[in-house]
Amino acid sequence: MLEDKFGRRFHYLRLSITDVCNFRCNYCLPDGYQCENDRDFLKVSEIKTLVSGFAKLGTSKVRITGGEPALRKDLCDIIKVCASTAGIEHIAMTTNGFKLESDIQAWVDAGLDALNISIDSLDPRMFASITGHNKLESILRGIDKALALGVRVKVNAVLMKQYNEKELEPFLAWLKTTPVTLRLIELMQTGDNNEFFQQNHVSGMPIKDKLLAGGWSQLIRDKSSGPAQEFYHPDFEGRMGLIMPYSKDFCASCNRLRISSLGKLHLCLFSEQGLDIRPALQSANDEMLQHQLTALLGDKKATHWLQEGYTGATKHLAMIGG
Ligand code: SAM
Ligand code: SF4
Repeated sequence: MLEDKFGRRFHYLRLSITDVCNFRCNYCLPDGYQCENDRDFLKVSEIKTLVSGFAKLGTSKVRITGGEPALRKDLCDIIKVCASTAGIEHIAMTTNGFKLESDIQAWVDAGLDALNISIDSLDPRMFASITGHNKLESILRGIDKALALGVRVKVNAVLMKQYNEKELEPFLAWLKTTPVTLRLIELMQTGDNNEFFQQNHVSGMPIKDKLLAGGWSQLIRDKSSGPAQEFYHPDFEGRMGLIMPYSKDFCASCNRLRISSLGKLHLCLFSEQGLDIRPALQSANDEMLQHQLTALLGDKKATHWLQEGYTGATKHLAMIGG
């Protein structure tokens, strides 16, 4: 089992398969994806070695992310490789949903069982102004299809003062009849979004207070459930979640490691640099990979320093998948 010196266990791998994205979310890639040069993203064969090495060290869940993972033509092969690895029990993906309606059946057939879909507003015009794309209705139809296929669905919305801060009510009305978990994420500062962050960051705490006052109860989390706080209400089909990276003890429940689409291990979303494990992947050397991972984990720090405005080398979250 991968365990660090603070007793945190890592059974969850977040694997970015591309940093390219077709959306222009105002907090992430406001000018769209800027292509610097040709990028040699991890190949399916390298992903196979990677996931197998992690699984032998106790990883049971893989989340595929990006950039926008649905832009990779071999996405279904990647899902299949993860699903056929001994020890991997769950394959999830985080997506902006632009291909959800058309491709969900193929993803499920390949082995996907859970999805996180980013929807920052349920108002089509606001959605388009945040993401640069008029896709909300198709994404909502895609969610219905995913639910009908038995996929577990979470919806991510980044909280922004000047955009969706006042949209708690419409989100709650939607959750009354929709069995998804909606997670409101506090906007995080990255290297590229300083001004936007200063203007738009809002704390999730007042929302937590509102939920508790409105009859929502907080779920007791077990040690392995990660940093989101979740809430349920007997009158609602859906659940609420809050991700508050600026709150005290957020990092104490960290249970994930990240691999960038170029094969670098990131011990934290805001680490200074990625640690290159690609040679082990290219040579399909499972044992070398396991040794390297165990050794590198020794450097994982207790916490990030986001509160102090330290964002490491992370210019935006499309770089390593959020
Ligand atoms: N493109 C996919 C998507 O948007 O779902 C996957 C990659 S995206 C980087 C993963 C998640 O990170 C999304 O839910 C997105 O809203 C969130 N995210 C991106 N930048 C963020 C920021 N600065 N603060 C908080 N969340 C952010
Ligand atoms: Fe693309 Fe996701 Fe970033 Fe939006 S949050 S720009 S969809 S990577």
